[in-house]
Amino acid sequence: MNQKLLIDRVESLSEGFSLSKYNFLKISYLLKLIEESDHFSTQCKTCAENKKILANMVEEIPFLDDIEHRQPYEKQFNQIRRHFHREHGFIPPYRFSATYSLIGILAGTLSATLVSFVFGGFNIDVFLAGAVIGLIAGYFLGSAKELKYRKSKKMI
Ligand SMILES: [Zn+2]
Repeated sequence: MNQKLLIDRVESLSEGFSLSKYNFLKISYLLKLIEESDHFSTQCKTCAENKKILANMVEEIPFLDDIEHRQPYEKQFNQIRRHFHREHGFIPPYRFSATYSLIGILAGTLSATLVSFVFGGFNIDVFLAGAVIGLIAGYFLGSAKELKYRKSKKMI
């Protein structure tokens, strides 16, 4: 099935979905998987195979409330997504901003704790300030690192 038709098919099958159901079933990611598999299918055998799998997965959309249908669907979904991470240089969205934010919080609170001990004991305000500064710095650095992936749309 051609890509445009498949995307139309996804849109018609998910038409009545609430936003939370749409997000829960990761429909927008599915559309991205369809687009990127099509894009790489001329040069990658796996992507060419995945196009057929995706066409079958789309027909599962009406049945995904049923766990028996959803589990194999999600397994295939994750497999295809992983293929893009491993073979085509994609990263998951927020990979770096999320990780760096966490590292930032840890580094910030740790430095704040050390500093406050040097200046006479634990201080909750300094501790919290360290967490916030660490979070902002980590998020900023992580987002900067994500920029080239974002620009080349290499996120999935
Ligand atoms: Zn591929």
